[in-house]
This record gives sequence, C-alpha cells and structure tokens, in this order.
Amino acid sequence: SSGKKKEGHKANFEIDLPDAKIGEVVTRFPPEPSGYLHIGHAKAAILNEYFAHAYKGKLIIRFDDTNPSKEKMEYQDAILEDLELMGIKGDKVTYSSDYFQEMYDLCIQLIKEGKAYCDDTEQEKMRAERMDGIASAKRDLPVEENLRIFTEEMKNATEIGLKNCVRAKIDYKAANKTLRDPVIYRCNLTPHHRTKDQWKIYPTYDFCVPIVDAIEGVTHALRTIEYRDRNAQYEWMLDALHLRKVYIWDFARVNFVRTLLSKRKLQWMVDHGVVSSWDDPRFPTVRGVRRRGMTVEGLRNFVLSQGPSRNIINLEWSLIWAVNKKVIDPVAPRHTAVVDPVQVTLEGEGAPQAPKVELKPKHKKNPAVGEKKVIYSKNIIIDKADAEVLELGEEVTLMDWGNVIITSKNADGSLVAKTNLDGDFKKTKHKLTWLANTDYVPIELVDFDHLITKDKLEEDENFIDFLTPQTEFHTKAVGDVNVKDMNVGDIIQFERKGYCRLDSKPEGDKPYIFFTIPDGKAV
Ligand code: ATP
Ligand code: MG
Ligand code: MG
Repeated sequence: SSGKKKEGHKANFEIDLPDAKIGEVVTRFPPEPSGYLHIGHAKAAILNEYFAHAYKGKLIIRFDDTNPSKEKMEYQDAILEDLELMGIKGDKVTYSSDYFQEMYDLCIQLIKEGKAYCDDTEQEKMRAERMDGIASAKRDLPVEENLRIFTEEMKNATEIGLKNCVRAKIDYKAANKTLRDPVIYRCNLTPHHRTKDQWKIYPTYDFCVPIVDAIEGVTHALRTIEYRDRNAQYEWMLDALHLRKVYIWDFARVNFVRTLLSKRKLQWMVDHGVVSSWDDPRFPTVRGVRRRGMTVEGLRNFVLSQGPSRNIINLEWSLIWAVNKKVIDPVAPRHTAVVDPVQVTLEGEGAPQAPKVELKPKHKKNPAVGEKKVIYSKNIIIDKADAEVLELGEEVTLMDWGNVIITSKNADGSLVAKTNLDGDFKKTKHKLTWLANTDYVPIELVDFDHLITKDKLEEDENFIDFLTPQTEFHTKAVGDVNVKDMNVGDIIQFERKGYCRLDSKPEGDKPYIFFTIPDGKAV
C-alpha cells in the first residue's frame, strides 16, 4: 500500500464519484430494520457519509422497510442509536414505507404502459422458467386485466390476489438473469411495523430502491459489488418509469475471517446462547466491537483506509485492531494490574516504612491525560509469573521506581529484595510491574476467541459444525487504586498486559470486569 494511505488513515483515498458536483451530491444509507448494524453496515454508512460531506452534499438515512415479515421497531430504534454512536448524522431520516402510495401509482403506470404484468404462476415453476428463459403464460395478459388484478385482487389480498405477483416485463431470455422479468410487487398480510395494516401489497427491493432514490434526489447510489448484475435492472426501472438518472457506485463488501455477518446466523447464536446478546463482545455488530474496545475513530479510519478497494476479501481482524490501537495508544491512561500476587518485602534505603502516595502522569508522553496515584511501600506485590523466573542475587527493575536485588526466595513463594533504586535499569533483564500491597482492587480480565473455527466457511458447510468450543477466558487479578475512578466504557492500558475496556463495575461479589482489546498483533 502507498505511503500516502498510511498517513493517519484519514479520508485521503483518491476516488471521485462520477459526475459529482460540489454542493449537489446526495447519498443514502439504506438499512433494512431487520437486525442490528454490523461492521459491514458501518462501512456502508461511513462511506456514504464520507462522500456526502466530501462534496458538501447531503446524506439520507433511509429505512428500507418494505418487507414486514422481517422488520421490527426494535431494530429500527437500535439502528438509529448505533448510527449516533458512530457519530453518523444524516441530513434526514426517511422510510421507504413513506412512499408506498407513490410506488403503487408507479406500478399502475408501468402496467398501463404495458411494461408490467400480473402473474399467478406457482413459485417453483416461475423459478424454473426464469432459469430456462421461458416466457410466463401470463406475460401477454391484456393491460385491463393486469390493472384489475393489481388494483382489486392484489391490493385487497383476495384469494386470487394472494396467488399473484407483478413482474416487470423486461426480457425473459436476457443473458443477465436479473432482467428476466423480476417480481416488483407481492402480497404480504403481516402488519407493517409503521404502516400497520394499511397495505397488503409491498414493492420488492428491486422496484423500491430506484424509485425512492429518484424521488429523494439521490445523485449517487452506493451499492456493494454483488449487486452489479442488478445495475442494469435498476437502470431499466428508472428508464421505464421516466425517472431521473442516479449513478450507481459499487464498493466491496467487507468480510472478516472466522466471522459471520448474516443476520439470520447471528440471531441463531443469540437464541441458542452461544453469545449473551447482540452486543456481545465476540459479535461483529457495531455494539459488539465497541464493547470490545473499538473506538468510533478507529472504525472510521479503518473503513476509510479500505477506501476504494473492490476486491471482496476476508479481512484479518488484526488489521482493524491495529488501526484502533493507533487511536487509543496516545490517550489510554496507563494502569497496573497484577495476576496471582506474590509478596515482596523491600529492605534498604528508599523503601518507605509506611505507604506513601505520589501523583504521577497517567501517560508519560501525554500529560493531558492527567495524573494518577502511585503508592510506594516496602511491601509490594508482583505477578507470580514474574516472580518465578527471578534468580537469587538478580538485579531487577521495578518499573517507574528503581532497581532492587533479590536477596531471598522464601518457601511460601514470597521474596525479599534490597533496594538499589538508582541502579542502571538498562542493565537489568527483568522490568517488573508492581503494586503496593495495599489499597488495590479486585479485577477480572476477560479475553475472547473467535466464534468460528474456520477462516471462511464454504457454501455447503453448516456454521453450527464450526463453533469454537471455548471463546471466553477469565483471569482474576488486582488493579491499582485508580481503577476506582474509572467509568464503564473507559479504555486504558494495563502496562505489560495490554489495552482494556471497563465493561462493568463491581456488583455483589463481581469485581471490576475488563475486556482485553486486541492490539492488532498477530497471535
Ligand atoms: P440481510 O443480511 O438481511 O440481507 P443486509 O446485510 O443486506 O441484510 P441491509 O440492511 O439491507 O443489510 O444493508 C444496508 C446497507 O449495508 C446496504 O447498502 C448494504 O449493501 C450494506 N452492507 C451490508 N452488508 C455489508 C458488508 N458486509 N459490507 C459492506 N456493506 C454491507
Ligand atoms: Mg438487504
Ligand atoms: Mg443482504
């Protein structure tokens, strides 16, 4: 990748939208309220916002709510919240369902112009005919009959209506199969989460999107690449309906290794207790990755650094976490945690008899992060894993304090050390994190693994056969006294252990729970 791309991952990729004029660009992010937003949706939302703002234009957040069987108010509300969390503000929020009347009228217009027909061919047969390029027996029904079926039978969802759908009369033999007379209207008796039982017929995605894009003044419709075959169909609709041209701009879908993005599969994992909820830190949802410690800035920088790539690839999670690390490292307060504490008694000059508190910077390179309490004492604790490798007579460095020499290793595992605080820390092999043996707080560090064992599942592989048996790992520890001042959501670094996000404060016998944040280093 070019050096330029690396510079802070700002939005500096050189792509232009075709025929885009400053001040006139209108883009839209069209989520279907059928689940929570995931990292792929975040990419779409951020790209749309980026272009709208780069061209001083407008961004529309549009709920693409034309299938009442899948959609719910709960999802709609969650999507709005998540967009807000990501700092994405549309210039307006709209709903495809606001245009049901217009779409109905346009369908009538299409029928009247002989460009659409009603079809009651049974589903399986219709599929086979489309595959084989065979015309439907209903393709040449008279306009009057089509109008009657659509406006009387289908609109009222009568027995006849329920058997019918409306199809665009494009080209039943087209090489591009999306043009083989696609369905544009069908009945559905499920009440709609916004329009309730006002309608019993609903436009399909293929009919709805170009119409609403045109009506709302969208100039550039961003779509993921696998819709490319459908671009011709989108253009046919605009043309056939005498609507304004909209530019389609394709971008690559994001996928991550060992990760599922399908709403249906994610829902299954929630329902079967594989994860706790849609905001589980192992989930690729916006809520999940944020809970894991992804920052809004990290997410945005990552998406924009991906920029114009049109290759659909399976990304490594380390890529996005490395971008996030650049955001959190300069500002994350440094704290100390000790796992399996081992007592060390210090003897000699400079070892305080009574604990003494001093204020020290939370981040050595960034004083703006503030100060923290550091307690110095002759009784300290260090990690057992560290204590075990120390040798008798070895000089070691207590980080941000000074050197000490190990003078005895007791049978109970505890150590005694003699101070040599001004000793040269460059000469010691071991630099230890430590805490005074007082005023520390119980914490738990939680680490996670991917939910799926395989990088990429094949079409014929069932994800249920590839669930990772254990994906959650808890480590008990103690943290420094400053942890008490933290708020849920705060991101810090426990020195020598890594970045963490406080997920919850103590409750009952539960300690402070920290989720470890991947830092992008390959594991
Ligand atoms: P479903 O899984 O129910 O088909 P969807 O993933 O297509 O849903 P939508 O709500 O229809 O979700 O998508 C909203 C927008 O997000 C669309 O513009 C879509 O192209 C885009 N999008 C969805 N998944 C990805 C992805 N993995 N990468 C990039 N963009 C995506
Ligand atoms: Mg969709
Ligand atoms: Mg989809």
